[in-house]
Amino acid sequence: MHHFNYVDGRLHCEGVPLEDIAREVGTPTYVYSTATLERHYKVLSEAFDGSKYLIAYSVKACGNIGVVSTLAKLGAGADVVSGGELAKALHAGIPAEKIVFSGVGKTRAELTAALEAGIHQFNVESFPEMERLNEIAMSLGKKAPIAFRVNPHVDAGGHANISTGGAEHKFGIAWHEAGEMYAQAAAMEGINPVGVDVHIGSQIMDVEPMRIAFEKVVTLVRELREQGINIQRMDLGGGLGIPYSPKDNPDSPAKYAQMIREVKQGIDVQLILEPGRMIAGNAGVMLANVEYVKERDGRTFVILDSGMNDLARPALYDATHEINLLNEPAADASLKPVDIVGPVCETTDRFEEARPMPPLKQDDKIAFMSAGAYGAVLSSQYNARPLAAEVIVNGDSYSVVRPRPSYEDIIALENQPSWIE
Ligand SMILES: *Cc1c(COP(=O)(O)O)cnc(C)c1O
Repeated sequence: MHHFNYVDGRLHCEGVPLEDIAREVGTPTYVYSTATLERHYKVLSEAFDGSKYLIAYSVKACGNIGVVSTLAKLGAGADVVSGGELAKALHAGIPAEKIVFSGVGKTRAELTAALEAGIHQFNVESFPEMERLNEIAMSLGKKAPIAFRVNPHVDAGGHANISTGGAEHKFGIAWHEAGEMYAQAAAMEGINPVGVDVHIGSQIMDVEPMRIAFEKVVTLVRELREQGINIQRMDLGGGLGIPYSPKDNPDSPAKYAQMIREVKQGIDVQLILEPGRMIAGNAGVMLANVEYVKERDGRTFVILDSGMNDLARPALYDATHEINLLNEPAADASLKPVDIVGPVCETTDRFEEARPMPPLKQDDKIAFMSAGAYGAVLSSQYNARPLAAEVIVNGDSYSVVRPRPSYEDIIALENQPSWIE
């Protein structure tokens, strides 16, 4: 469910025609919908009403401060994977007590910053990381609340590049080593083992593989408690998929929540969830302008002013996005297969091949739908192309939450070496 719809033939985000944003802010531009973000957050939080839970929004899906502060206002926590995301989450108004820190490669500086901030939980992914965290915590006179991220050896399906729960993946500690690792953690002065964490991948369409992983977590929590380790939290990660096209039929957030309630029955823990895509994915679109329509060798190339540097998912994950014209085409418009490409000098700068599209001409504006998650965050200034602007809509108004940098802004980030006059 989202709030991007045609009204009188013009594609709107809530009450704002996207054409207005394209005209006033330019393209390429990401546009997020407050009502959609709120709706997704509420669907999940209402499903857990009455139990102890923390929804720690995965900042890496869409870290714009406009988006994160919107979720902070609803009471969301944050799952961060770097010191930069920690700083942004705190700045956006997420209290440290609602922040969990994930990731396999946390540096000393990142661990120190998170300890000093007093975050809710470190999701530790290896023994050396725990030793490092222990040392830093002791030197600061603190005790770090941790969960081990366990690798449940479950294949959840989905694209190979976003699966994380198999033995061949770098994530987490081995399932069979968990008992021993927790025992060692409990003996460390700077470590307080409080939870068990799992995250098996992203864009998972079916909740059943998750159920298998989560049941393993419940079993582990029970075993650890018997071992005398007081586990109080179960962090079930993120990963629920969203529809990118009408053909996609992911299990609903309600079904996901129901499955979790079933798995968690009879065990008193704080539940932590780390949804990213499910919150932000369908809450954002990317606007682009058609620069040229080029016919060659029997093909039609629609060349946009946005490229793989702005929206990397097609180049990175073979992903496709629904594409809507900002001006609704006639219902009987004939569709013709075209290649939708960007201006970047790379062959992979291609959004889709032979996509059936209604007639398109220079300066038509289009929207890549479902671009809110892993969209703007993955963008770069490759080819010295300014980062896309970002806008958030709320009802009839909108706010530019990341202006497009000027060439001067881009150049100001760099210097000539001191020896060149
Ligand atoms: C990426 C990530 C998430 C969010 O995944 P989604 O598929 O966007 O819900 C949650 N937890 C961890 C540890 C992650 O790396």
